[in-house]
Amino acid sequence: MSKRIIIIGGGVVGLSAAWYCREAGHEVVLLERGSPQRDCCSLGNAGLIVPSHIIPLAAPGMVSLGFKMMWNPESPFYIKPRLDPELFDWGMKFIRSCSPEHVKRSAPLLRDINFASKKLFEGFAAMPGVDFGLVKKGCLNLCKTPERLAHEAELAAMSRALGMPAEVLDADETRRLDPGVDMDILGSVYFPEDAHLSPNRFMVQLEQLVVKAGVDVRWQTEVSSFELTGERIGGVRSDKQSFTGDEFIIAGGAWSSRLGRQLGLKLPMQAGKGYSLTIERPRQLPELSYIFTEARLAVTPMMGALRVGGTMEIAGLDTSINPARIRGITKSAGRYFPALPPETFDGIKPWVGLRPCSPDGLPYVGRTRHFPNLSLGTGHAMMGLSLGPITGRLLAEVIDGRPPTVALELLDPDRFG
Ligand SMILES: Cc1cc2nc3c(=O)[nH]c(=O)nc-3n(C[C@H](O)[C@H](O)[C@H](O)COP(=O)(O)OP(=O)(O)OC[C@H]3O[C@@H](n4cnc5c(N)ncnc54)[C@H](O)[C@@H]3O)c2cc1C
Repeated sequence: MSKRIIIIGGGVVGLSAAWYCREAGHEVVLLERGSPQRDCCSLGNAGLIVPSHIIPLAAPGMVSLGFKMMWNPESPFYIKPRLDPELFDWGMKFIRSCSPEHVKRSAPLLRDINFASKKLFEGFAAMPGVDFGLVKKGCLNLCKTPERLAHEAELAAMSRALGMPAEVLDADETRRLDPGVDMDILGSVYFPEDAHLSPNRFMVQLEQLVVKAGVDVRWQTEVSSFELTGERIGGVRSDKQSFTGDEFIIAGGAWSSRLGRQLGLKLPMQAGKGYSLTIERPRQLPELSYIFTEARLAVTPMMGALRVGGTMEIAGLDTSINPARIRGITKSAGRYFPALPPETFDGIKPWVGLRPCSPDGLPYVGRTRHFPNLSLGTGHAMMGLSLGPITGRLLAEVIDGRPPTVALELLDPDRFG
């Protein structure tokens, strides 16, 4: 039976949910506080589609690594110390999640949802008139030090054990895969199943597709509160009007936990600030996408341009730009690609985005048991673009009571509440 579904948030997750709910025959209204020219985390990100990312952010070694990096103002990781009980609670949950058992449980699920999502991207790319620069040539994780290469080789072995192809390469083998780029590296791990695209293009095209499919997209409509009808959500209110519906989806990115709090939901989340810089006419344009592993940078060719992105600053819902972190990015890039010296980035305006980060590194996807007609799709941290389409499809399946494409237990939005 067709339902009226209200989706809050027009990032990649909200738009994907709109597409799959509409495809299932529902009436869909998407509420986005920004204008069509808005910015959000789904736009300026690194554009990697990453079946290879089978390790969640919360993994053994992350706490000590984070602690080491925190003291360097140019490092790619930082937690702004502050007296905030939510940050403390998130941190404790993160520490508890950094266990081998958590990684073992999560890895097969992350593999499966990433593969399923990649298929959905392929489906979009095959639609007439749609082109968002999807390139399926894999991703190279470049290493400069023997310690890092050994660590990446261990991850590669783990990936292969889970059926994910991964090859450890020396410097010459790496260069042969992308001969047009100079590299100063020791070696790499190659993940041939990874892909990349232009997120800006993908978002524009997905917006066009959902509008054409009949989704009612309301721009500049910020949801400020919820209306309850007994135990159900009856509607949501913006400063302009109220919207009633049968089903509601919160897909508000890093702002989702704030929305959930109004309903008493416990959705631990921190915003993970990251930056990117896009070089419109790079001196050398790689064909593959890259991760510079020690520097924790992603480098992605995007339809003729080259985007360099990274850093993870846990500093609240704050989009100010920290020049020291930008310096960290511009100094590190040329250490791997000599054609990217720091001056390459002169005059380029940094983009900033807030990743919605759950404390166990897994997204929140599915229905909350606290309201029979409320679902959530958020908390994807570094994989939100990659997992956007599958999250949208899973939400449509949940709402229809269809068996979900993957088991949703580990993604339960109530797992901390
Ligand atoms: C530097 C960087 C690089 C990254 N690289 C990659 C990558 O290579 N691959 C990958 O998979 N992921 C990557 N990510 C992560 C990815 O970008 C995010 O996980 C993803 O975009 C989150 O999407 P979202 O839809 O949940 O949130 P968003 O894109 O933030 O969208 C949420 C939307 O909700 C709206 N909203 C919030 N509150 C309200 C409200 N009350 N009413 C109405 N609207 C509201 C916001 O305006 C926003 O438009 C990267 C992130 C960064 C910062």
